Amino acid sequence: MRTLESFVQGSWHSPEAGGVVTNHAVTGDPVASVSSNGIDFAATTRYARDVGGPTLRAMTFHERASLLKALGQHLFAEKEMLYDLSTATGATRADSWIDIEGGAGVLLSYASKGRRELPNSTVLVDGEPEILARDGSFIAAHIATPLNGVAVQVNAFNFPCWGALEKLAPALLAGVPAIIKPATQTAFLTEAMVRLIVESGILPDGALQLVCGGLGDLFDHLGGQDLIGFTGSAATAALLRAHPAVVERSARFNAEADSLNAAILGSESEPGSPEFDLFVREVVAEMTVKAGQKCTSIRRAMVPKQHLEAATDAVATALGEVRVGDPADPETSMGALVSTAQRAEVLDAITALSGSTDVVIDSCVFHDVDAERGAFLAPTLLRSNNPADPNVHTTEAFGPVSTIMGYTDPADAISLTALGGGSLVASIYTADPVEAHVLATGIAAHHGRIHVVDASVADSSTGHGSPLPSLVHGGPGRAGGGEEMGGLRGVRHHLQTTAVQGSPDMLTAVTGEWMPGSTRDLDSGHPFKLNFENLDIGTAIQTDSRTVTLDDIVNFAESTGDHFYAHMDEEAAAASPIFGGRVAHGYLVLSLAAGLFVWPDPGPVLANYGIDRCRFAKPTYPGDTLTVFLTCKRKTLRAGTGYGEVAWDAQVLNQDKDVVAAYDVLTMVANQPGVNGAPDESTESGGKA
Ligand code: NAP
Repeated sequence: MRTLESFVQGSWHSPEAGGVVTNHAVTGDPVASVSSNGIDFAATTRYARDVGGPTLRAMTFHERASLLKALGQHLFAEKEMLYDLSTATGATRADSWIDIEGGAGVLLSYASKGRRELPNSTVLVDGEPEILARDGSFIAAHIATPLNGVAVQVNAFNFPCWGALEKLAPALLAGVPAIIKPATQTAFLTEAMVRLIVESGILPDGALQLVCGGLGDLFDHLGGQDLIGFTGSAATAALLRAHPAVVERSARFNAEADSLNAAILGSESEPGSPEFDLFVREVVAEMTVKAGQKCTSIRRAMVPKQHLEAATDAVATALGEVRVGDPADPETSMGALVSTAQRAEVLDAITALSGSTDVVIDSCVFHDVDAERGAFLAPTLLRSNNPADPNVHTTEAFGPVSTIMGYTDPADAISLTALGGGSLVASIYTADPVEAHVLATGIAAHHGRIHVVDASVADSSTGHGSPLPSLVHGGPGRAGGGEEMGGLRGVRHHLQTTAVQGSPDMLTAVTGEWMPGSTRDLDSGHPFKLNFENLDIGTAIQTDSRTVTLDDIVNFAESTGDHFYAHMDEEAAAASPIFGGRVAHGYLVLSLAAGLFVWPDPGPVLANYGIDRCRFAKPTYPGDTLTVFLTCKRKTLRAGTGYGEVAWDAQVLNQDKDVVAAYDVLTMVANQPGVNGAPDESTESGGKA
């Protein structure tokens, strides 16, 4: 038996004495002793704030994303050691895959999102600037910057790796250090994973601390710059969210709690239809993966009344084929619960459900294990003969247990689903798009995620029970009212959004992005001749002018095939209330603008990879004369590639100085030779001097 250590204030801490002993889920033997005795929690939170926070905040989003990538790769490389330990939680290899590789996958997913969707900067500019004075001299922008505190992350026992990593990834990407507190029962696996992370040396000091055991007075040291992320039971969530740190000092609190998730078989999904079979397959999988100890497991299986008999038989038959036994045996399809105490809780919940349900199946053969010493339990299917009874919608049996029930019509299915009081996820099995719309919109307000399944996604669906890093994980009401992951949404929870008002030049300085009305530097030559590092925000060009002729319009129409009446039909265009005459194609304006601003020779601008925010503000008529202002708006270094991305603010003006087109031109611009991985030999010097 190991005495688990905590990693606090930069070193491993052994508890002074005592500790809760946790047991092997399969053999019942003691595995670990867990205690946080002797930890100075005030110093632990200070260490995160004073050591981890400043280092993380000094890094750009991309630099933090690189940490996540390195960490994810490291955990993938070391995963077998975690798999070996994971068996003691009762998990099969497939269960552990979700936990271990799923967790490392979240790190990689956030690493990639961070590099693709966030700036290579310490400040996130949120949305477009607001013009507050008529003449543009006073504007505002929203910026998002990391909270200056610590993210305390309290996790449930069921996913000791994934549960920790799905909270850690968005926090670190945001620039906020974390203190992880795993559930005592499976803390030995989280401790092993954190040991791998610490030994890798990838994270800066103070970015990650681990508390195995209770949190002592830690919450007393939290305030308005801190976050608490909780996953666990509704009862513990209620206790923690009432702490003065939350209600008096406004620490941000996010809870992921109990959830009686539903699966709804559509009314036209007859027995024998692909949707019926997919429903049965998923209910069985959700009952048996992780022995049903998943927050997203299907607890309520709802079927049209006329199919209740057939669906019950099909699920029961499939459950009868599940092989329950030693999770280390590759033949095993369902392992053990995490502990005999957890099994006792599940059995209590089954007893509580028995008042309003009948047992359909609750026995099985346990292969090659002592089912009493280990925390084994047969998959248990219950059937409700009174689905309106709230008991089946509110009693959570956190194990391989589900209740099947009949509904009369879609409205009934919607109201039964809502009796769950808010859930993480529901699945709908229908081939009928109208029914999918009615059910999905009917239950959406009660859910964080809805999974619509028909035959076309049989092989590609990611599954009812799989929260994905790019999608919101959380749910209203009973599910905790929180939200995790969801791509950058999860990062934003760790940032403070601030509206900053001032002159355009000041806002450019604050945000690091060129703001409309800000000074342009028109004296540095053609900006396309400058390498990435010699290009400043605000470096700009005012191009020569170009008059648009009717021939230009006709030639463009002929070469592209775009003969839209507004360009080609004199009479119809004159009758148009928008144009009042023939106008140039918007795409012709863009092309002419490019002809005005590009530098033709090979040089630092490697490619134009797109445009953003394009708007044609006014029509361009034959005879109009166009000029372009092209201004370096935003720079994003792509580390190690030899180039950076540059977004240019493009304003196309006519002879009256009216903006006819406005957009961002997106380019890749080479670094100076030898810098950031750029080749030493270059065709262009690109220097400003
Ligand atoms: P739990 O008893 O509420 O424990 C959850 C976490 O809270 C554990 O780390 C626990 O630590 C800690 N904790 C308990 N009391 C605390 C206190 N007074 N102060 C600070 N921390 C405290 O839940 P569980 O039994 O481990 O997990 C099962 C439940 O979690 C189920 O109801 C399930 O539905 C829910 N769950 C929800 C999600 C989701 O994403 N919504 C995911 C997984 C599980 P100790 O272990 O040291 O007591």
